[in-house]
Amino acid sequence: MTAVDDARALLAAPEVGVWSAPGRANLIGEHTDYNEGFVLPFAIAQRTAAVVALRDDDVIRVRSTFADDAVEVSLADLDARIAAGGLDWAGYPLGVAWALRAAAPDATPRGVDIALASEVPVGAGLSSSAAIEGAVASALNDVWGAGLDKVALARVGRTAENDAVGAPTGIMDQMASMLGVADAATFLDCRTLETRPVALGFAEAGLAILVVDTLVEHAHSSGGYRERREACERGAAAFGVPALRDLTVDDLPRAAEILDDVTFRRVRHIITENQRVLDTVAALDAEGPTAIGDLLTASHASMRDDFEISVPELDLAVETALAAGALGARMTGGGFGGAAIALIPTELVPAATDAVHAAFAASGFRAPNVFTVTPSEGARRDA
Ligand code: ADP
Ligand code: MG
Repeated sequence: MTAVDDARALLAAPEVGVWSAPGRANLIGEHTDYNEGFVLPFAIAQRTAAVVALRDDDVIRVRSTFADDAVEVSLADLDARIAAGGLDWAGYPLGVAWALRAAAPDATPRGVDIALASEVPVGAGLSSSAAIEGAVASALNDVWGAGLDKVALARVGRTAENDAVGAPTGIMDQMASMLGVADAATFLDCRTLETRPVALGFAEAGLAILVVDTLVEHAHSSGGYRERREACERGAAAFGVPALRDLTVDDLPRAAEILDDVTFRRVRHIITENQRVLDTVAALDAEGPTAIGDLLTASHASMRDDFEISVPELDLAVETALAAGALGARMTGGGFGGAAIALIPTELVPAATDAVHAAFAASGFRAPNVFTVTPSEGARRDA
């Protein structure tokens, strides 16, 4: 992993260990996580590395290839600095330290230097944020003797992102990054946090996942995401249920009656997307990956038309990939930019890549980043 060497180069003192966690791609199940529904993400091979050295004082010092300057906070000041906010990128690793200390009464917090480097593209819908959280949470869990399991560490990452950084995201990204299994996706029930690895079998079927990173920047913490969450909460409240997870496609006629048009379409996306996740898992189990293409494409249409979180670049990526022979394609991640994925025969990857570049150029869009991702192992200690 090149990220390990990059992170090592930032560390002044001798390391006590190296931990890493991957980004993730979401195969299907978008915006269902905070509705306590189902998602099916997989960890990717690109990882964020955290190399740690011990200190003699009680300072946590974080550095990243991402930024020129180190950020230092003493454990005594940690709560106040997190509450004050304004930590920018350092809010992720320091937020994890803060959340881990609160979640693990048996831990022995101590001063550390943490050097970070990442192979996960930022803001591309591949969750560089969960990767940094997972790497730091895994590292501090061991160094502080906190003894938390992977699900608890995923919760720590989410708490950091929600309460320290201030991004109101669900728990999918952290669970996918912590629990990933090679060649499998993680089927996650976001209500119970029960998980099951679901074999993907892409390689045996001669299939690849092509990612088109549109380089259009998204902002989770800004208006669109919040507005979608509020619409979902309105929908659930109108039915008197705790979350949209509790509704099924049988509830759609009634939803059309009692909800305004916009809220209805937001709700319809969540209800049908939950069903598509269940259908995708069933199809993978019974028939394998060649059976899931139409479900992926239907997911994109629902996000484009009902949830309205796509952008023209993502729609073009999906259409072009399908025309180039993809079995299915959809935007992935929170939306408003970021990446699309396509399930495509491996031998068609070069031609599809060319087709996407040509289509973006013809539309006057910025040249996208196009690459494949491989379902890979989750967070771990590397050294
Ligand atoms: P993504 O879709 O990539 O998760 P987010 O906006 O959720 O996008 O998270 C990206 C943010 O995470 C960056 O702007 C930065 O603040 C932080 N981040 C991610 N990776 C690193 C890293 N290696 N070093 C420092 N900060 C990072
Ligand atoms: Mg993120």
